[in-house]
Amino acid sequence: MKSESRPPSSVTNLKIVCLAGGVGGAKLADGLAQIVPPENLTVVVNTGDDFAHLGLKICPDLDTVMYTLAGAANLETGWGRAGESWRTVAEVGRLGGPDWFHLGDLDLATHLVRTQLLGEGMSLTAVTGHICRHFNIQPTILPMSDQPAPTLIATGAARLSFQTWFVKERWQPPVEQVVLPDDVRATPAVLKALETADLLLIAPSNPFVSVAPILNVYPIRAMIEDLPQAVVAVTPIIGGQAVKGPAAKMMQEMGLPVTARAVADYYGDLIDGFVYDQQDAGSLDGLNMACLCVDTWMHTLADRRRLAQEVLNFAIYVAGNE
Ligand code: GDP
Repeated sequence: MKSESRPPSSVTNLKIVCLAGGVGGAKLADGLAQIVPPENLTVVVNTGDDFAHLGLKICPDLDTVMYTLAGAANLETGWGRAGESWRTVAEVGRLGGPDWFHLGDLDLATHLVRTQLLGEGMSLTAVTGHICRHFNIQPTILPMSDQPAPTLIATGAARLSFQTWFVKERWQPPVEQVVLPDDVRATPAVLKALETADLLLIAPSNPFVSVAPILNVYPIRAMIEDLPQAVVAVTPIIGGQAVKGPAAKMMQEMGLPVTARAVADYYGDLIDGFVYDQQDAGSLDGLNMACLCVDTWMHTLADRRRLAQEVLNFAIYVAGNE
């Protein structure tokens, strides 16, 4: 699978790259941020969910990761800001505007600044860096691409934009296929992060609408296949269910078993190791790759740190045994 390996020595001097979507990705990224020196941690985030709303550029997964690493996230919803108020969106609705996408008043400030800076010609990578600095976020958060890369959901009746399907339609229309765009390119920052990484992690994010869009960005998948680093993924499926969101429903509708094993099979040769949940103990026996069975459910901030440490220890082991 991989031609050579560079066994890393200790977590403190390892460069870690984590591919992430929103909620699940942000939680593991937060755990990693608690144990990896910030200069050694890069989170590459899905932007396939991004869209324009009320004239503003919204990047839901980037925002979830940023707010989480800033300690500013709403811990109950998993998205949006803590201590949020909703006066503006209520007024938008009262004025007959689109209020189906819930934008809090604090959250709106992020979208206003982002839209303003993009309009001045800054790249999404630079804008993300700017907002991170103002949140005092130390690790590097990178959008997977600076180009628009909209994920579409093919349902029986139509192809829906991701947020129309996910939020407006409450992910109810059955998914026939996730349609990813052609010709989206990675940024120099993402390429450099991948090239110089010691370990690559795939967060417990939705494999189809959070991780696949990142892998679809040229040449990320090919690079990950060719580079020598160990690649370890964490399951988003526990006990035949998603912790949150549509991953399990999508798997069913796309004809896949709703199991951690199906997720490992989906990543296939791309990964060298797979972390799955203790609730599914034994279900990956016989899988032709290294596996770690632990408690992957991150209920608390301490869980995030514990899982991040276990995943890193395992990835180091995998790297040493390639
Ligand atoms: P989204 O873009 O906000 O939907 O976020 P992600 O794609 O990153 O996360 C959604 C996935 O994360 C879902 O499939 C969840 O099952 C999974 N997830 C969320 N929290 C946890 C957790 O604590 N542990 C594990 N193993 N998976 C989780």
